[in-house]
Amino acid sequence: MLGECHAHMIMDGINYKAAVALHKDGVCEQAVRQHLRECQKAGVLFVRDGGDAKKVSKLAKELAPEYGITYRTPVFAIHKRGHYGGIVGHYFENFREYQELIVRAKDEGADFIKIMVSGILDFGRAGVLTEDGLLREEIRDMIAAAHDAGMAVMAHCNGDKTCCWTLEAGVDSLEHGYFMEDETLALLAEQKIPWMPTIAPVGNLLGCGRFPDEEVRKNLKGQMERVRKAAEQGANVGLGSDAGAYLVPHGKGTKDEKEYLIKAGVTEKMMESVEQMIRERFQRR
Ligand SMILES: [Zn+2]
Repeated sequence: MLGECHAHMIMDGINYKAAVALHKDGVCEQAVRQHLRECQKAGVLFVRDGGDAKKVSKLAKELAPEYGITYRTPVFAIHKRGHYGGIVGHYFENFREYQELIVRAKDEGADFIKIMVSGILDFGRAGVLTEDGLLREEIRDMIAAAHDAGMAVMAHCNGDKTCCWTLEAGVDSLEHGYFMEDETLALLAEQKIPWMPTIAPVGNLLGCGRFPDEEVRKNLKGQMERVRKAAEQGANVGLGSDAGAYLVPHGKGTKDEKEYLIKAGVTEKMMESVEQMIRERFQRR
């Protein structure tokens, strides 16, 4: 049995635009069932979604029990206007709007709050992110407000400083975490905050021809190294593939991620224990 701690049911691992277009007139139940079947077939019986703007993950949660799957969703992710995140959720312009989105997520049935505090990898240029992350104070206030509302926080976060600030602010799980340096990795290990390094969306690009392989390889190598260091220090490294991302299909993506993690020195026991932490913390109380 596998637990997938970071998936996006709205995407199909092939073509993001086409996958999202299926839901333009309301959620396409057939597509959701297809992805749930893929998870079930691969033995993925726990899924934590990272959100979407079309309530696809919300329906996935309703249907999941039919497939023997325990499902958790933030419904949508929250990002600051003008920053990355439109793909997976809704934006705010000021703090009041952010607080309103927390209330809306709860009303729509969210199990937890998902926030976006940094850009994504520029896959064609190793070590580069698409944009700067949010400010330290913004990250701190966003996490505190969600906690005040009784919700756990899953944060999309890359970049050394941004990850450090997000960990400092007491996030409940750190997603991606590319480019963390030694001090930040030490903090991660010390705080025992679950980290999903999502290696498959990078590793699976090798040989696909969309980006230069030498750049992809550098990013892959760097992240494997970070995972190894974190695991050695006893950090809580978990299995979350970002399933649905390009070349990371549901079911198979989770298996791929598990292989990368094992190669980087993460034990199955560690993955299971992190999944357990996620199951316990990322649910409505
Ligand atoms: Zn994601």
